[in-house]
Amino acid sequence: MKRREFMRCAGAALAATVTGYGSTTKQLAHAAVGSDPRDRILIVGGGLGGLSAAYELKKAGRSVTVIEARSRPGGRVFTAREPFRDNLYCEMGAEYVDASNTYLRQYCKEFDLKVLTAKLYDAVVLRGKRFAMSDFKNKKVPLPYDGTTPGVLFGQERRYAERLLEQIQDPNQLPPELLALDNKSVAEVLLAEGAPEDFVSLYTYLNATEKTARPDQMSALSLIRSLHRNSGFDEETDEGRIFGGNDQVPKALARYLGDDILYNRPVKQIRHGSDGVEVTFDENGQQRTMRGARMVIAMPFSVLRKLEIQPAFSAAKMDSIQNVSYGTVMKLALQYQRRFWDETGSIGQRVLTDTPLRRIYHHSIDQPGPSGILLSFTTGEDAEKLGQLSPDQRLDTARKVVDNLWTGADQHWLGGFTKYWNEDPYTQGSYSYTGLGQAGYVDRARVPEGLVHFAGEHTSKYRASMNGAIESGQRAAREILEVGA
Ligand SMILES: Cc1cc2nc3c(=O)[nH]c(=O)nc-3n(C[C@H](O)[C@H](O)[C@H](O)COP(=O)(O)OP(=O)(O)OC[C@H]3O[C@@H](n4cnc5c(N)ncnc54)[C@H](O)[C@@H]3O)c2cc1C
Repeated sequence: MKRREFMRCAGAALAATVTGYGSTTKQLAHAAVGSDPRDRILIVGGGLGGLSAAYELKKAGRSVTVIEARSRPGGRVFTAREPFRDNLYCEMGAEYVDASNTYLRQYCKEFDLKVLTAKLYDAVVLRGKRFAMSDFKNKKVPLPYDGTTPGVLFGQERRYAERLLEQIQDPNQLPPELLALDNKSVAEVLLAEGAPEDFVSLYTYLNATEKTARPDQMSALSLIRSLHRNSGFDEETDEGRIFGGNDQVPKALARYLGDDILYNRPVKQIRHGSDGVEVTFDENGQQRTMRGARMVIAMPFSVLRKLEIQPAFSAAKMDSIQNVSYGTVMKLALQYQRRFWDETGSIGQRVLTDTPLRRIYHHSIDQPGPSGILLSFTTGEDAEKLGQLSPDQRLDTARKVVDNLWTGADQHWLGGFTKYWNEDPYTQGSYSYTGLGQAGYVDRARVPEGLVHFAGEHTSKYRASMNGAIESGQRAAREILEVGA
């Protein structure tokens, strides 16, 4: 589309939109800003993907505007500093920084932030049975499921994948039998390769919980690729957290960007042509349109799929926007007067369970006591069920589970806070994962469409992580700097 055509088309879209929102074309034309949009890059979404794109572009001398729906930067990096007592804080979104997270660690270095190692699991509670992690690892006790390997918790699905893994000579040239696994679920393939039903039930509480998905909805091809790369999470993974709170990274990026971030502006429409882009967003109850030379869309596809995009992107891109899978996740932060989990006779401070809370662990290990926060990371069907309850009911359920695991815990109860990401209008899910038939989605998600570039965890090979969001933002910035316009 030529510039004039784009502006005409944009005008028509604007008029249509304006009617839809009960405003007038005149008001919109008035509200349009950006007297000189020739070199401004519009960035939609101020999570780590959008912020890192903006940061790198601004450092390189480009003019940027980040348009963010919330009143804070960081998106799914959300360090809650309220409502906890004793100045404790809690990561209600992204938490762990792995040793391999080079992009994130580079920013930590740049902003002088320390990453402290968190503690590993002390115990496992499955089917009502409790195991000390040490006993389990020493093969003194087996898991109460058929078909498991003694002493191994995560990654034991490998034994059922050996026949398939043996077929991989070049991971970029997979044989047809393996490529076809993209349309089969992890559950289906594990069963076909000899795993008992029981084993699939266990998988729900292992890797499927990390992915926030269900074994019958996850692509088996993705599992095989991950086993081949040896990239799965396991009980020995060295997990760190940023001392003082993960939100320090987005806050540092936001400080540098200053007034180049517009908060409280939910974007409603996106338009693009061959020589310009436009974004229409709510601003204090009014609609405002901003023009730019290029755009980086850095919001989750779970949200983008509900916006108006004119004209539609390529069929492949629209398919990944509409259909890429997002999981289900809730975090429940539970504050107690005493850190009873560290006391003699306790089951420990970090427990993997099949209760509705799934993972439960001491979060405030690097914060001063005596009170402390136990955090639950729960996903899949358990998160969905809890999500149907009110916040108070969620906490009531959690308190009972904790009291059962640490007898008498409830007498130390102070209060809690829950965050269900699937009900958050600006996330509408946990993070992306490879659902059935979605093998090519990440690659498609990242390809630019004319003057529009894409960032966010769902566009990165390190998807579902802060590291991936930053990698994607830096890559989008590079794409723009390389074309020089
Ligand atoms: C519960 C949970 C636990 C996690 N644990 C970890 C972990 O331990 N380690 C790890 O590395 N990662 C973890 N992650 C994943 C990590 O948080 C994400 O991969 C990463 O933060 C995503 O960044 P992003 O920029 O792609 O998206 P987001 O952070 O979602 O940013 C997108 C931004 O777009 C904004 N937006 C949305 N809609 C609009 C709109 N209409 N108009 C304007 N703006 C809009 C949003 O408000 C948001 O700020 C976790 C995520 C969750 C939810």
